[in-house]
Amino acid sequence: MGINLTGSKEFNRLENIVIIGNGGRENSLAWAIQKNELVKKVYLIPGNAGSERINKCERINIDINNDKELVEKLNFLKIDLIIIGPEIPLANGLADILRKKDFKVFGPGKDGSQLEYSKSWAKQFMQSANIPTAKFWKVNSLEEAKKIIYSESIPLVVKADGLASGKGVFIPESKDECFKSAELIFNGKFGDSGRVVVLEEKIQGPEVSVFALCDGQKYVLLPTAQDHKRLKENDKGPNTGGMGAYSPAPLLTETYLDRIINEIIEPTINELNKKNIDYRGVIYFGLMITESGPKVIEYNCRFGDPECQTIMPLMDQDFVFLLEKCSMGKLIGNERIDTLDKVSGCVIATSKGYPHEYKTGFPIKIGKIDSNNFQIFDSGTSLSKTGELLTDGGRVLTIVCQDKNFDLVFEKAYKNLKEINFDGIYYRNDIGHQVRKKNFTREN
Ligand code: AMP
Repeated sequence: MGINLTGSKEFNRLENIVIIGNGGRENSLAWAIQKNELVKKVYLIPGNAGSERINKCERINIDINNDKELVEKLNFLKIDLIIIGPEIPLANGLADILRKKDFKVFGPGKDGSQLEYSKSWAKQFMQSANIPTAKFWKVNSLEEAKKIIYSESIPLVVKADGLASGKGVFIPESKDECFKSAELIFNGKFGDSGRVVVLEEKIQGPEVSVFALCDGQKYVLLPTAQDHKRLKENDKGPNTGGMGAYSPAPLLTETYLDRIINEIIEPTINELNKKNIDYRGVIYFGLMITESGPKVIEYNCRFGDPECQTIMPLMDQDFVFLLEKCSMGKLIGNERIDTLDKVSGCVIATSKGYPHEYKTGFPIKIGKIDSNNFQIFDSGTSLSKTGELLTDGGRVLTIVCQDKNFDLVFEKAYKNLKEINFDGIYYRNDIGHQVRKKNFTREN
């Protein structure tokens, strides 16, 4: 085990780490980071009720939009590395503010975050770098959208340009539905995020997620993953933030991954350089494997949820060094990420009604769990006055498990899930259906 740190054995102090965010993703990052013996404390701002169950972790309740107070607190705590989890603070330029104050930050600045916070910017970026992606039209008015929708013969997808918590994408079945979606966005459903609309050619194929940790110039890849976006079994129902995932994605053979590196990953990093964007953080490539090859569906400027919760338990204790090296612009680029010799899978337990309206505040009961190679990362929970764990979001718990093959992973995940209960608990029973009963192992 261990990252091959060829040429660099020196590390700075890495005692106090801050992770910004409050979801399952941030808890799983904290869980992986605290494994390193140099790390003494991991502070989550603000974290959630599950954060303090993680070794060395503490929550801090401070307004991240109050720069002065935040910087004072980080200085007081002698923070050695800051990891920014969610897209909103990244899009607001928090990484730039903290870097200016000489903190080491894992997370791109406002310029690099455009990859995620403006779909039209990202599409133009891909176009100029010749990166394969669906054909698109950037439109500024409903009139303009109408012309394209009714004159183009190909099926279209409609997207709000800006951040919309994963809800700004519509996959209509007809031209009229397509027009209605554009109308909804232009009528303000997503506020300023919908001032511009992107119409895209609808493409087809399985989706995979690839994560590159980037230091501005060089990058290393994390294990690949596949998630299940739809709410219902057999990948039906509305899109959600993700109902489960597995890693690695057997669909991406080494040869295919090489193609993705050559056609997508390296051209993306080169194009960022060409634009003088010093991108220090993770680039998430949401890809569709189409008949004509891999295409980018979207970029994210942060770790995907629930893929992050799935991948983190595979990381060994040197993972935090990689994040630190990215933050300093000091990756070697050929670091070998040794992972646990297992595969990993996760299932999300949600509140009844998610991704639409749901109620919170229900007590969570956890019975007898087989905790070997198994983690529960809280996604949306809180504590009652008496210390009882309560539901506090649509996505409540991420149940993660590692084993030799995906059958064993999901067998244990679902067995343990039977021991977890709250009023209205819902989860899909078929997560990983593509890789179950196939006995895929890391060796083959
Ligand atoms: P996005 O937020 O851009 O990742 O879109 C959410 C989901 O919508 C993706 O994971 C895809 O399942 C689907 N989607 C987005 N763009 C397209 C497209 N051009 N063609 C087909 N499906 C798409």
